[in-house]
Amino acid sequence: AVRVRFAPSPTGFLHLGGLRTALYNYIFAKKHQGSFILRLEDTDQTRLVPGAAENIEDMLEWAGVPPDESPRRGGPAGPYLQSQRLALYAQAAEALLKSGAAYLCFCSPQRLELLKKEALRSRQTPRYDNRCRSLSQAQVAQKLATDPKPAIRFRLEGEAPAFQDLVYGWNRHEVANVEGDPVILKSDGFPTYHLACVVDDHHMGISHVLRGSEWLVSTAKHLLLYQALGWQPPHFAHLPLLLNRDGSKLSKRQGDIFLEHFAATGFLPDALLDIITNCGSGFAENQMGRTLPELITQFDLSRVTCHSALLDLEKLPEFNRLHLRRLVGDETQRCQLVGQLQALVEEAFGSQLQDREVLDPAYMERIILLRQGHVCRLQDLVSPAYSYLWTRPAVGRAQLGAISEKVDIIAKRVLGLLEGPGTNLTQDMLNGELKKLSDGLEGIKHSNVMKLLRVALSGQQQGPPVAEMMVSLGPKEVRERIQKVLC
Ligand code: GLU
Repeated sequence: AVRVRFAPSPTGFLHLGGLRTALYNYIFAKKHQGSFILRLEDTDQTRLVPGAAENIEDMLEWAGVPPDESPRRGGPAGPYLQSQRLALYAQAAEALLKSGAAYLCFCSPQRLELLKKEALRSRQTPRYDNRCRSLSQAQVAQKLATDPKPAIRFRLEGEAPAFQDLVYGWNRHEVANVEGDPVILKSDGFPTYHLACVVDDHHMGISHVLRGSEWLVSTAKHLLLYQALGWQPPHFAHLPLLLNRDGSKLSKRQGDIFLEHFAATGFLPDALLDIITNCGSGFAENQMGRTLPELITQFDLSRVTCHSALLDLEKLPEFNRLHLRRLVGDETQRCQLVGQLQALVEEAFGSQLQDREVLDPAYMERIILLRQGHVCRLQDLVSPAYSYLWTRPAVGRAQLGAISEKVDIIAKRVLGLLEGPGTNLTQDMLNGELKKLSDGLEGIKHSNVMKLLRVALSGQQQGPPVAEMMVSLGPKEVRERIQKVLC
């Protein structure tokens, strides 16, 4: 069975790069009726960020790619926090010691620091000199008497195994004699990344490891560990980096890349998933507007290439507009949007609301239906440009007079129109009637009539078509606003 995992360290909140790794894992799992596991790699206790663990899981749920097994949900392979699995790492380290694949290291932090400094001084990459590898049994026993908690290091020996990465193809990274032997278990009993990762992927029954390409080189070490432990390694697929459009690192971008930020500013999860999958590979073609079920059916791991994925966040509003429109078209989703818009309006205008009637769900729904495809986010509907929908504009007589001297006569005729047969306003009907109205007034341009009405109704020079404004506000409110401009 396919079992994949997303294994972030809770050293920061979930950002777009993390979401992308999680998403590809999620899609791959669902495509193969497998399980998607969230494992938090919290072994470096000094780098933990408060709230990060919760945020990562919250945001995966928000994004619509919830794990099947996780710290919060639990599951058959738990616990899902590495700090709660220390016994498993100790057990594996013990087995490696026994077989001679690992050894105790008594080097003091001071000595290691010195090695590092010397290397840097002679412009070499710092590496451990493997000194404790050659300690005799007697020396070990002697040292244990004064230092009962040594670290454990893994012997990086022999030829690095070649492996076929499902994205990068055949790979072989020489690690023995290039790097010093890595610590796998620290003296405080906590494992380091390599051991913890291998032990967990094995015990959690992970079938495929899909992770960022920055871990490609580590895979050689992991394979040596699998070999030494006598375990069958999983398949590996390394995902190319997600970068800004200009090729710079995502984290270096000025804008916020954290999911929380997108959620708080009204972006839809579907828009994020769509833009992320459109800038990378894995699909026969790029195509805007795909939803998660479509992504799952269309995804093909063999189509993931090793080119970096370049993300153009400036396109995100456009992706959002598309997905918002799709939601509006679905009655249940639309109902939810109405509720969200109500909350946004209350928050933005609260006490200024002209009357509570604007919170009427039918009114909200009408606005959403009329403006779909024009706004990118629901939030846009409470921006200043749309404040006229929720509060009455303050329009001075002089402002209107500057557009046309015949304010009163135009206003009266429009009022007449609203009293007529059609209180059930439609845009077509209004467009026709307003044109007739202008034609019937000598020396007044139709464009000025419309301009005047626009300002009278909204206090704005620009906005949706006047007839649409009238339909959205409804005859009663239009009448009130027009009446107000009369002398
Ligand atoms: N904890 C590593 C990270 O933060 C996990 C790497 C892996 O998936 O093996 O990315």
